[in-house]
Amino acid sequence: MTFWRFLLVLLTFLAPSVSAQTANDKSDLIVAGGTVVTMDGARTIYDDGAVVVRGDTIVAVGPRTEIEAKYQAPQTIDARGELVLPGFINGHTHVPMTLFRGIHDDVTLNDWLYKYIFPAEAKNVNEEFVRWGTRLAAAEQIRSGVTTFADMYYFEDAVAEETAAAGMRGVLGETFIDFPAPDNKSESEMLAYTEKFLKKWQGDPLIHAAAAPHSIYTCSQKTLQDSSALARKYNAPILIHVAEMKKEWDDSEKQNGRSPVQYLNKIGILGPDIVAAHCIFVDETDRKILAQAQVGCVHNPSSNMMLASGVSPVPELRAAGVAVGLGTDGPAGSNNDLDLMEEMDLAAKLAKITRMNPLALNAKAVVEMATIDGAKALHLEKDIGSLEKGKKADLILISLDEPNAVPMYDIYAQLAYALKASDVETVLIGGRVVMRDRKLLTVDGEAAIAKAREYKKKVAASLGMP
Ligand SMILES: [Zn+2]
Repeated sequence: MTFWRFLLVLLTFLAPSVSAQTANDKSDLIVAGGTVVTMDGARTIYDDGAVVVRGDTIVAVGPRTEIEAKYQAPQTIDARGELVLPGFINGHTHVPMTLFRGIHDDVTLNDWLYKYIFPAEAKNVNEEFVRWGTRLAAAEQIRSGVTTFADMYYFEDAVAEETAAAGMRGVLGETFIDFPAPDNKSESEMLAYTEKFLKKWQGDPLIHAAAAPHSIYTCSQKTLQDSSALARKYNAPILIHVAEMKKEWDDSEKQNGRSPVQYLNKIGILGPDIVAAHCIFVDETDRKILAQAQVGCVHNPSSNMMLASGVSPVPELRAAGVAVGLGTDGPAGSNNDLDLMEEMDLAAKLAKITRMNPLALNAKAVVEMATIDGAKALHLEKDIGSLEKGKKADLILISLDEPNAVPMYDIYAQLAYALKASDVETVLIGGRVVMRDRKLLTVDGEAAIAKAREYKKKVAASLGMP
């Protein structure tokens, strides 16, 4: 080989690495223009900003002109005239229950559970039901800007498969409860199912499989400890309802000599992997314990109002240093939808009215709860909750071109009190566009709607309802 030929071969070999170096400034997609509300530590807002995505990750965020000078991408999404936000995080729900939406409302929780929901679940819930309920919920949540949700139900592996198919991010907990559930009939079956489930989804980019001991009033100490130990063996999160009703608090004081939070602490459940839904009956000592143990709490204002459960002391929890997210709960019997923007609005107003103080919880705080604080409550703040370099590209575009969207003096107030879920136009999860200009791209919304109508007939017939 002559020297020149050798040089040519050498250059051919070097060529890919040269182009790889310039590719550092290349990307897959740029969301350009629009007001980028980052929710980063400084709460930076770029009036004319841009977000650069490579693979499933954000590689840059900044002023549009700076970004465009530095980055190129084969795909651009024009966000001019829109708000660009991190996707909303629904911190607590039971998505397959979409198919029980409105089955019977305006009754006590006890009647709702024992006369309607438990019989309806026993007669109707199977894997197929859970799949269709999850698809319907995915369509509803994506259309309202939710990119991550935390779920507690049965057949959670089927929930996980449908969630992944819809391209959504989920913290999905298989339920432990001290009575035969629709999927598993005993604690040993629940443990075996959950272990398989946790193993299967380890390392998945979207799905965080979890264990979900239902509550202290439906699980023995042994069930609570066994399910938590199993989750911890796999570094999986633990989802649980905590201090959600007065009766639970009264019974715990009587039976355990301490509050629900103090009981859970004593038996070794609380820790930085716990996501506690509700946290209504939590006094100052409880709040300190929750903060010290780094438990994430999820506030569900619609549910708490609809069931007349009580009001979580959200401002005090936040002041104590507890990460408080927002959830819809429900969607049946306690909401009945999956609209997290509505929860932002209600969280602020509920705190205000119960204290007769309009300063109790402000718009910025509830937007934090729906995004970065929701991520902290789910212990996922390294990956989601804000638009920052290195985080997952979960972001939403919200139209400002609607009568209810103008004029805009304050972005956070607009988000909390004026904009609606129906103003969400485009949604990306892990860099994948799952809704574009209100068109769902990963879920067959129409099929899910048709199936929900079919299920209504079946469920009503099973309960002898018209
Ligand atoms: Zn719940």
